[in-house]
Amino acid sequence: MSERDTYDVVIIGAGFSGVHQLLKIRKLGLTAKVFEAGEDLGGTWLWNRYPGARVDSPMPLYQFSDPEIWRDWTFTEKYPGGKEIQAYFQYVDKKFDIKRDVSFNSRVVSAHWDDSRDQWTVTVDDGRVFQGQFLSLCTGVGSKYYIPRFKGLDAFKGEMHHSSRWPEDYDFKKKRVGVIGTGATGVQIIQEIAPDVAHLTVFQRTPNLTLPMRQQKLIADEEEKVKKDLYEISFKRRHQTFTGLHFDINPKLMRDATPEERALAFEEQWEKGGFHFWMGSFADLLFDQKSNDEAYAFWRKKVRERVPNPELQEKLAPTQPPHPFGVKRPSLEQRYYEVYSQANVTLVDISKDAIEEITSNGLKTSDGVEHELDVLVLATGFDMVTGGITSIDIRGQDGITIKEKWADGVRSYLGVASATYPNMFWIYGPQSPSSFTNGPSSIELTSDWIIDCMKFMKENNISSIVPTAEAQHAYSELVDQLGAVGLWSRAKTSWYMGSNVEGKKTQMLQFSGGIPAYAKLCNDSAVKGYDGFHLKTASVHA
Ligand SMILES: Cc1cc2nc3c(=O)[nH]c(=O)nc-3n(C[C@H](O)[C@H](O)[C@H](O)COP(=O)(O)OP(=O)(O)OC[C@H]3O[C@@H](n4cnc5c(N)ncnc54)[C@H](O)[C@@H]3O)c2cc1C
Repeated sequence: MSERDTYDVVIIGAGFSGVHQLLKIRKLGLTAKVFEAGEDLGGTWLWNRYPGARVDSPMPLYQFSDPEIWRDWTFTEKYPGGKEIQAYFQYVDKKFDIKRDVSFNSRVVSAHWDDSRDQWTVTVDDGRVFQGQFLSLCTGVGSKYYIPRFKGLDAFKGEMHHSSRWPEDYDFKKKRVGVIGTGATGVQIIQEIAPDVAHLTVFQRTPNLTLPMRQQKLIADEEEKVKKDLYEISFKRRHQTFTGLHFDINPKLMRDATPEERALAFEEQWEKGGFHFWMGSFADLLFDQKSNDEAYAFWRKKVRERVPNPELQEKLAPTQPPHPFGVKRPSLEQRYYEVYSQANVTLVDISKDAIEEITSNGLKTSDGVEHELDVLVLATGFDMVTGGITSIDIRGQDGITIKEKWADGVRSYLGVASATYPNMFWIYGPQSPSSFTNGPSSIELTSDWIIDCMKFMKENNISSIVPTAEAQHAYSELVDQLGAVGLWSRAKTSWYMGSNVEGKKTQMLQFSGGIPAYAKLCNDSAVKGYDGFHLKTASVHA
């Protein structure tokens, strides 16, 4: 039987966003097809199979809120590893037969809008072509990996892997491994493999201002009780806090607190672990340099207590902050600092001795040292937030690609749609709260908003919806202004600002006003009949 080629909704991506969209679209009675570049479900957790991959939001928050799903699934750790999240996706598939509507190993290369038919034409990399009234971009924030242009990259004779293209069950033992990058991924890999490898050389440009994870095993019986008492509450709470976690920023300013109050609050947040010291701190932490310096000093003291060697102390927790604390997403670590006291681990500060070139035997730094390696791990991150969308040749009403439109900066309305691209929505992408939040919290919020919008359109005989230029301008200005009031831009290279990728426009890429403020903007538009959008009734061109 030949595959049908027209759907109400074409979804790109089969991670949390794509799966949530599919389930809700089925309930709405519409047809949908998901195209996924990877070979299975899971998105981020399918691609990022590097050793130590682990979620940084505590359970039960990092999962779907549908009771039909959580009732029969219990995670074994407060912060589960990537493998367990992959297994979770298989479980969700078993329950709802997700895969019957997914085409795997199918990378969408283009999506072109036809204004006369109110329809998208979507082309897959194997040449298949599909039509959809709606295009739902569930392409994720980190689906396009990034490797800086190192000289001699092709010269290396050993094995080289970007962290998001990891070979299954790779054995590092007895190997001399180099890791470039100490972002969240680098930290996870380093702490995981350090005990087992012959030698580990870490190339660090900026120390990661990590926080203690404080991992816990979850006991199945106890979790059943928590499910009954607290799961529903926790999921509702996700939409009431800035980050979509279960706790919120302390409204008090650090500068108004007494020294004793500050000291005790810091200790308490530190002991709780996770993001408490970041997104559960005083309200001015990310806005006032002096307050931030104080938090940094506390952080530095805590880290240095775990690093006996003074030279390493200065590299890992420098006297001068490399950037304000928390303007980059802190990694949650589990034994990261102890690693550097191992005899088989070397830390190279490439902010001083820069990477000069990759050689056939390893990596040469500007002090003339050649670090010999069998394996080179590129934990060099992603073209974050925008890369997944701009990699597709998406053309709207004026035939201009979204990549060209965004060359001088992302512009959107409500971080969900863009002027001249009708019936196209994205989830967990540019100018939404995305990476300032726990993933599923903002994903479900936006996905539900899109579903309600589709329902409204069907019920009111509306064939297309597109943001007005004015509404887009006002919203994008708001995102810029919110980004400018914080300390965010003080980090030299930050993917929050797009400045980790050479040549990319530096701008705040996400809505930094928190989930409740964002949800209010979205809801206000919806209750006013999708204010800020131009709606076209089907009869206009029938
Ligand atoms: C390394 C890493 C660690 C993270 N850790 C956390 C965490 O601990 N906590 C947290 O809250 N968030 C974390 N995130 C963010 C995480 O991405 C979200 O929590 C969530 O998984 C996003 O789901 P998604 O479905 O929107 O996107 P993704 O999970 O990224 O899925 C997008 C999918 O779209 C597919 N795709 C993209 N382009 C195309 C195309 N053209 N054609 C076909 N398919 C395409 C990709 O292959 C991918 O499978 C992390 C992100 C990364 C990169």
